[in-house]
Amino acid sequence: MDVKPSIVISACLLGQPVRFNGGHCQDSFVLSLSPYVNWVPICPEMEMGLGAPRETLRLIEQSDLALVGAKSGKNYAGAALAVAQDRVQAWQGLDIHGFLLKKKSPSCGPERVPVYRDNGYRARSTSGLVAGAFRAAYPDYPIEDEGRLLDSGIREHFLIRVYTLARWSHVQKQPTLKAIMDFHRDHKMLFLAHDERTYREMGRLIASGRLDAHDRSQYKQMLLQCLSKQPTRGSHANVIQHLAGFLKRDVPSEWRRELANLIDQYRQKRQPRQAVMTLIRHYFRQHPHAWVKNQVYFQPFPELDSSLNFV
Ligand code: SF4
Repeated sequence: MDVKPSIVISACLLGQPVRFNGGHCQDSFVLSLSPYVNWVPICPEMEMGLGAPRETLRLIEQSDLALVGAKSGKNYAGAALAVAQDRVQAWQGLDIHGFLLKKKSPSCGPERVPVYRDNGYRARSTSGLVAGAFRAAYPDYPIEDEGRLLDSGIREHFLIRVYTLARWSHVQKQPTLKAIMDFHRDHKMLFLAHDERTYREMGRLIASGRLDAHDRSQYKQMLLQCLSKQPTRGSHANVIQHLAGFLKRDVPSEWRRELANLIDQYRQKRQPRQAVMTLIRHYFRQHPHAWVKNQVYFQPFPELDSSLNFV
């Protein structure tokens, strides 16, 4: 199923000249992802009417968190929260699958944004005001900054979440229960790698044999919760071992032993996952299995370039 996720993005990461100095901070990962997603750009500070260039803003610890202009001393917190609220309202009923926001921005930064005291000393760190409002409105949704996505594991996790949510958006509009059951079946190995307990709960909901609007919304909540957990080396190893079981009849025992050894070495951090996946893909190419072939686990998002896929 080919889908294009809709991802809210800080406009400066796309190369739009909206930063305080009239520049941008175009990001190479964003560029490489552009053909595969629908970007939903936002620049809260431009939408607040501040223009570019403009004074810099910072978060200041007060009874309510303030967003204060460095020159004017004006508090823009109310304006920032109004922009966030307007956007969340405008997106009601639209499919949004994730957020890719500018790191450390007092408006956009999803986390680790410095908060200062009136005396200029740093007090703590938190989310930017607009990012915090998005997080509250979209609990368990993938929300990352471009800095964290330099980590290949975090990047893979982000892509899996946005693409799976986009596939779900497509499937949940289908009138038949079968489409949802097929979705659940084809994502089994992926869900097991993330969170086995929540996967089982999702299964119980599907097994009830009826999925009205309330049940579909409940399934989506569980899906978000399931995928919010990052898979571990152990959970991946368990899933690959489970898949290897499907080779029992067709593949000679010494080949299966070789695969089992490789899975053990991966579990013990002596091999990358890429090595195990390459071997098991090779075996399944030689001995295709219909159920396994449909497992999204093997290709949960499009092949972007070799550096962006399985780690
Ligand atoms: S970080 Fe956010 S507010 Fe700042 S320039 Fe980029 S999009 Fe605009």
